[in-house]
Order: sequence, then C-alpha cells, then structure tokens
Amino acid sequence: KRLGIALVGLGGYSGGQLAPALQETKNCYLAGIVTGTPSKADSWSKKYNIPGKNIYNYNNFDSIADNPDIDIVYVVLPISMHKEFTIRAAQAGKHVICEKPMALNAGECAEMIAACKKANRMLSIGYRLHFEPHNIEMMRLGQKEIYGKVTSIDTGNGFTYRGDPNAWRLKKALAGGGGLMDMGVYSIQGSRYSLGKEPLFVKATEEKTNHELFREVDETVFWELEFPGGILAKGKSSYNNNWGYLKVKAEKGTFGLEPAFGYGGIRGNSPAGEMNFPQINQQAFQMDDFARCILQKKPTRVPGEEGMRDMKVIDAIYRSIASGKRERIV
Ligand code: NAD
Repeated sequence: KRLGIALVGLGGYSGGQLAPALQETKNCYLAGIVTGTPSKADSWSKKYNIPGKNIYNYNNFDSIADNPDIDIVYVVLPISMHKEFTIRAAQAGKHVICEKPMALNAGECAEMIAACKKANRMLSIGYRLHFEPHNIEMMRLGQKEIYGKVTSIDTGNGFTYRGDPNAWRLKKALAGGGGLMDMGVYSIQGSRYSLGKEPLFVKATEEKTNHELFREVDETVFWELEFPGGILAKGKSSYNNNWGYLKVKAEKGTFGLEPAFGYGGIRGNSPAGEMNFPQINQQAFQMDDFARCILQKKPTRVPGEEGMRDMKVIDAIYRSIASGKRERIV
C-alpha cells in the first residue's frame, strides 16, 4: 500500500521540492492539498491530478478526518502555524510531518508531541539531511569516532535575503525569528548529529547591519555551544551572508562538508579524501522513509523530539542574546 500525503500550504517548498519529490516516491504519493488560495487549488488539481474531494482549505481542514485517501498531513506553512495544523491533523487521525523549525519555541513543540501521542499518530520533522549520504557520513565519522574523539566543530548557514520585504519570514509573529530559526537550525542539527551528544550551554551574540529589512527578526547570529566534556561547537546563521558548511575537528583529522545543507551539490572531505556519495532526492527519501515507518510500525529517525531539541537550543540562544550571558539549555 502507498500512503496518501496531503500538503498543507502550497508555497515555495511545497511547489518547488515536495510535490516534485512525491512524483518519485514509492511508499507514498501526493493524494491531497490544503490551501487558502482557490486558484492554487485549481492549478494543482490539474497539474497533479488531485480529485476535488481531496482538496481542503484552512477552515474545512478538520473534515479531512473522514477521508481515507489521506494518511499523512505535511505541514509546510509559516512557523507560527505549525503547532495549530500539526495538532489539528493529529486530532483528525492523521500522521504528521511538520517542516523545520518545528515551532515558535520548545513549549509549542511539547504540545505538538503530546497531541500526536494522545491521538496515537506519528510525528516527524522535515529534516531531509538525515537521509542525505554525505550528512549520514558525518554522523558516522563523528559518532563512531572514526578519527578519534571530536574536539571542536565549526558551522555556518545562511543566505543573502533578497526576497519580498513584507514576507512572513521577516515578521516576528509569523516566523518567530530570522536567520537563526530558518537557517541556523541546520547548523545546530549538524553539530548535534556530528557528535551524537546534546549541548548543555550556549553563549550567543547578534549582529545587525540592515535595521530596516530586519526590523523584527535577527539578521546574523553567532553562538558557541558547549557539549559534555567541554567540546565547543561554534556556529553562525544569517539572512545576509551566504554560508553553508559543517567542519568537524577530531583527534586524528578533520572532516567536513561544503556546501553542507543544500538540496543537492553537497561535497565532503575527510582524511580519506573527497567523499564519493551520490546526490539523492532528499525529500523523496525522507517521505518514503516516514511512510515505511508508519507501515512497519517503526520509529522515525526524525521524530518531534528531535525538532524540540533544536528548539531548546534556539530558545537558549535568544535568551543568551537578551541576557548577554552564557545560558543553560533546558
Ligand atoms: P512560502 O512563503 O513559500 O510558502 C508558505 C505558504 O503558506 C504559502 O503558500 C502561503 O500562501 C501559505 N500561508 C498560509 N497562511 C499564511 C500567512 N498568514 N502568511 C503567509 N503565508 C501563509 O514558504 P516556504 O519556503 O514554502 O516555507 C514553508 C515552511 O517550509 C517553513 O516552515 C520553512 O522553514 C519550511 N522550509 C523547509 C525547507 C527544507 O529544506 N526543509 C525549505 C524551505 C522551506
């Protein structure tokens, strides 16, 4: 059986990546859509052959409970809407994939996890890099201490924002924050999965050059995560710099990726030389894996708890920026 996925929010990521990936998946397919824009309902319905009975808007969304074609709801909305639609989907009896960052803060993540647990539905986060071979190799090299113990990490992720100055990404109420929420989450993830440990403390600072465009949200953030054993992971995120690397120093050598976090074109090096792994359709692998986990009743490698751990780090980074002090991650 192939599981039916309904995408909620038909913006850039749904249209540019997820819907095309769902043409390649084997365990799941694009069965439905949820959109507030009637013209998108029309064009998507034609393009992807989606029957009218599988098209919903944000108001009648809860009646998706009665639709056996939809097994999984994939929330691809502005961050402030992740919690509401994850909980409504679970209450409608659907498994959920929620995009990154999971929610506005860790408290919301806890509510989402609890709602899915209560409804006995699986929840996963759109962490596509857990399925990407170069990133999986970073996990292996770091966690299995192939080059000895990891001694430090350096990572950054960001892009130069040239989009709509009124977009949700720049509105605090909708996005929760700026470059840190959107891009920094990859560097935090990368640090965590290269080590296989959880950070205890963080110290962070913020830098802003464009006060008009980034009036409401952070532009560039620098942080230092302290892991058990005193291992430090330096990180930075930005809406005004093109970064995308993950570099790990271990006792017997350095390994890393650059570009590290894109949809493709990922390159890596280790003491053994250049990494030689295929570029895959990360989104297709991610969604197929989740469908397989549901069908086989196995846990996903990217559950809600994984999203919440990153949100705890992000919460502590914002606390540290505000206090000017090293903050405990709780
Ligand atoms: P987008 O702006 O392109 O799309 C957002 C969609 O939400 C639009 O269709 C819009 O109509 C809809 N929407 C509903 N209510 C809205 C409101 N009040 N304000 C604004 N839009 C509203 O954004 P996107 O780039 O597709 O991002 C959506 C989610 O996907 C975010 O959580 C983002 O972080 C995530 N994302 C993940 C990846 C990844 O690689 N995993 C890549 C891009 C985006």
